[in-house]
Amino acid sequence: MRYLVLSDVHANIQALDAVLAAAPADRFDRVLVLGDLVGYGADPNAVVDRVRALDPLLVIRGNHDRVASGLDDPLQFNAMARQAAAWTLSTLTPANRDYLRALPVGPQPVGGRLEVCHGSPVDEDEYLFDATDAAGAFERVQHPVCLFGHTHLPMVFMRARRRQSAAAPDPDVAVSIVIEPDALYLINPGSVGQPRDGDARAAFALVDDEAGEVELRRVPYAVEAASRAILAAGLPPALAHRLAVGR
Ligand code: ZN
Repeated sequence: MRYLVLSDVHANIQALDAVLAAAPADRFDRVLVLGDLVGYGADPNAVVDRVRALDPLLVIRGNHDRVASGLDDPLQFNAMARQAAAWTLSTLTPANRDYLRALPVGPQPVGGRLEVCHGSPVDEDEYLFDATDAAGAFERVQHPVCLFGHTHLPMVFMRARRRQSAAAPDPDVAVSIVIEPDALYLINPGSVGQPRDGDARAAFALVDDEAGEVELRRVPYAVEAASRAILAAGLPPALAHRLAVGR
């Protein structure tokens, strides 16, 4: 099966639409979403509606989905995230709020070779930033390829023959990863709606689990329009300004 993999859309409909326009329809069969559909951005209902219309094979919950749908208190959130979560909760339609509340928690298996999670295979709130974080996660994975999100940073960790490596893909180069047999991978496609690697473009991945190929891609989107919508919604201005710098 071939998948379009989306993570951390964060209510950015402009970025999501650009990804859907750029993802070649003949390159994927189904959609996987790694959580955080909402939070930070100005269009939570449009994003949830669009994702639901894609009939994804699997959507897992992110920490922002949990808090912005009222399932949990924003105790671990900074002031900006808390304000955005409260605004999102008051803006979501009851149907979209219920949809977010019902999302399954990762990790979840997909086919025989993949699993997906939001933060890490251990905990949806855990960040996988570095080799130490990845080492712990590799002990817990159940499948050769684990797709994760949450950090908003495209990243490939690999473990083969007890040796571990890490690579932050160059956003200016289309990255193609060939899955080696007997190796384990932790792969973050990056964030659709709030990239934090210094590149404003939306990030996504195409995964072919039978061919053993993963492609990481970037696509420009209407950043200005997304920023204006955040300001017009009365959300913290820093959430609008960060989109242009990809931080
Ligand atoms: Zn996120």
